[in-house]
Amino acid sequence: MKSHSPYNQASVRLNEYLKAHRLKPTFERDLILQTIAQIPHPVSPTEIAEEVKVHHISRSTVYNTFKLFCLARILSAITSDNSVGQVRYELCSDKSNSIQMVCTRCGRTVAIHDKTLTHLISQKKYNNFNYSHFTLTVKGECKVCRKIKGT
Ligand SMILES: [Zn+2]
Repeated sequence: MKSHSPYNQASVRLNEYLKAHRLKPTFERDLILQTIAQIPHPVSPTEIAEEVKVHHISRSTVYNTFKLFCLARILSAITSDNSVGQVRYELCSDKSNSIQMVCTRCGRTVAIHDKTLTHLISQKKYNNFNYSHFTLTVKGECKVCRKIKGT
């Protein structure tokens, strides 16, 4: 049976990424992905570390896996207006519009929601093509990398 659940979509993307980068699929990576997919709201690494603690997966493994998932475009960070809160992550969906900012230096990916831009693109008409959804990547340098550069 072919399933199109968010976990299955993400799992396919993860395996492609691991293969392309000569990395091994591990029990920890798969379990962390499953756990993220089961929670119906954006998650923080701390929250997931708490969930997988019973399987003896360390906090640093969870943090490293989140980094890997971001690079593999499986997870995207969500910008929040209150900078106090921890950064939360959500599974990148294949079926919904997405706009993301990608730092060309460190690979940090942040999802942004831009109603004006989304509306603008949805109004476009293309010959012989039925528009369903889009992915837009805005590239540049993130706040952290700009700070490191000392500008
Ligand atoms: Zn950066």
